[in-house]
Order: sequence, then C-alpha cells, then structure tokens
Amino acid sequence: MTFSLFSQKLPESDIITTSAGDVELYFIGHGSLMFKWGEFVIHIDPVSSSGNYSNLPKADLILVTHEHYDHLDPDLIAKLRKEQTVMLSNQASASTVKWAQAMKPGEVRNVNKITVEAIPAYNILHERAKGQPFHPKGVGNGYVLTIGGKRFYIAGDTENIPEMKQLKNIDVAFLPMNLPYTMTPEMVADAARSFRPGILYPYHFSDTDTRKIIELLKDTNIEVRIRKLN
Ligand code: ZN
Ligand code: ZN
Repeated sequence: MTFSLFSQKLPESDIITTSAGDVELYFIGHGSLMFKWGEFVIHIDPVSSSGNYSNLPKADLILVTHEHYDHLDPDLIAKLRKEQTVMLSNQASASTVKWAQAMKPGEVRNVNKITVEAIPAYNILHERAKGQPFHPKGVGNGYVLTIGGKRFYIAGDTENIPEMKQLKNIDVAFLPMNLPYTMTPEMVADAARSFRPGILYPYHFSDTDTRKIIELLKDTNIEVRIRKLN
C-alpha cells in the first residue's frame, strides 16, 4: 500500500523483453498507448480524453492510426512534440498535423532502428449508414513495429480483415473490441486464431465484456491480457 500514491500517477505498464532491451508498454486508455524503449518514447494515438498525460514524457515517435477524435488530438500532439519528434500517420491526420509524415498501408519506415509497417484498417460489416462503413478501406492505418526482433501490432479501428489474418510472427497484438465501430469478441477471436499472436491485448473495448474473449481463446496458447483500455 505504501506505493499506491506513486502508482496512481503513472498508468499501468507491462514489460516485453527484446534482443535490444526491454520495451515498457503503458496502457493509457481506450486506443491510447505509450511504449518506452530505453529513453525512446513512442506515443500511439495520444488523446487527452483517454487518460492522464500530465506525468508522461514527450514523444520521440508519434503514431496516429486515423483522424477520429478518439485517435487524433492535435492539441495534445503539440504538447508531446519535441524538436526531433517524428510523427507517422494516415493521410487525413497528416492533413491536420502538417509536420506529420503520411503512410499508406503497405509502406514501411525506419525510425531509430524501429521498423514501422502500415497495415490496412477498415470495416467490412459495420456501417454508419448503408454503403458507409465507419472506417472505409484505404483511409486508416494499423501498424506493426519491430523492435529488437519483437513484433508489436497495433490494429487501429478495424475488423478481422484478410490482411490482418495473414500477419506473421506477431509477438504482441492490440485488437479493438467494441460495437458498432470495430469488432465483437467473436471477431477478435477469429482474427487471433488466424495470426496467433503470442500476447493479445484487447483494447478500444468500451463497455464490451472482456470475459468473453478470454473464454473464446482459452483452448489456444494465446495469452490474453486485460488492461484498462476501455
Ligand atoms: Zn475510428
Ligand atoms: Zn476509435
């Protein structure tokens, strides 16, 4: 109990070991994550409404999946920016944050020995109105980061699309699990059974019951970790 005051100040974190040192994963909330690799700080979809950023370090790398308000927060991005910060995003986010570098799905960039690959992210079933998916194909990105030989997949807002199911050698995956915008637990389970990440973090899950995904994958060797990412 003596450290509870301290732990309230920082979000929860896990450590993933790589051949180039530990990567700390911080679970800020909803779609917002922070990875820390030594002194190198990666903010992923940083959004002030997802959690408390007041004690967090500024970014060396910012990744933004798409321009929805729960993923792109230009005011917070301005606060997290340092002189040398690199931001990679989809095209629409780079139209708002002018210094960002847009990536199309399939493109690969290297930043400080981290390989960043943009993966498609889109809806097949779930639509705002007929013919208007919440996330149209070709607009948003997911990302696979390779750090010290470990591969981290942050899916963005997407369903269990074929491009996701074909991913290989993913050690850690963040998959969104809320309706109507992304996936049901059944769709997350279908995707996870296809590309078999070592560790699965459901994220962006709002009020979805996370017990369901644990149940659906209990006969696999995929480790499902539930963190405060609603
Ligand atoms: Zn979205
Ligand atoms: Zn979202």
